[in-house]
Amino acid sequence: MADHSLSIEDALAAREAQKIPVPEEVQEAVRTLLRWSGEDPEREGLVDTPKRVARAWKEYCEGYAENPAMHLARTFEEVGGYDELVLLKDIPFHSHCEHHMAPIIGKASIAYMPTDKVVGISKLARVLHGFARRLQVQERLTAEVAECIWENLKPDGVAVVIEASHSCMTARGVRTPGVSMTTSRLLGCFLEDARSREEVMSLMGY
Ligand SMILES: [Zn+2]
Repeated sequence: MADHSLSIEDALAAREAQKIPVPEEVQEAVRTLLRWSGEDPEREGLVDTPKRVARAWKEYCEGYAENPAMHLARTFEEVGGYDELVLLKDIPFHSHCEHHMAPIIGKASIAYMPTDKVVGISKLARVLHGFARRLQVQERLTAEVAECIWENLKPDGVAVVIEASHSCMTARGVRTPGVSMTTSRLLGCFLEDARSREEVMSLMGY
């Protein structure tokens, strides 16, 4: 029985491994992109670029290797009677859009209304980065962060507001620098109760 389940795991691991390209394949793809852009990949300044780009993309997308919910596993129940909202404001982040693989640079404000447990405040930023370090669309990133906190902390409410600028719009296409996009996801009391909503939005500066 144990041997049987082990062999299935091994087979799955082997199949999983096949889907992941080796670094040389990634570097070759970057050389192709360089030629496509009008460059000579053999030019001195570009010789090590494919290696750097491969490493950089591993880092930009390191969120795929984690489940952001793990950052919310350790909670504190002794909150000294504190039952007001907790807000982490203007957390800088970067991500990449899934349509152009172009940078998304922005800031997020994350709030929740605890019931009986809270997390270390830096964990909210870790959840954000866990989802941001993937290919994203801003609307989904906002929703994923809010829902992860909602499901794992079971608070009375969650509010996530993200303001970001998209390089695919500022540096290409309509080329409109300086514009940013705002998205929000409100759950629980922040969605249902106008006073809670006004309080959180004004603390966030909106
Ligand atoms: Zn885009």
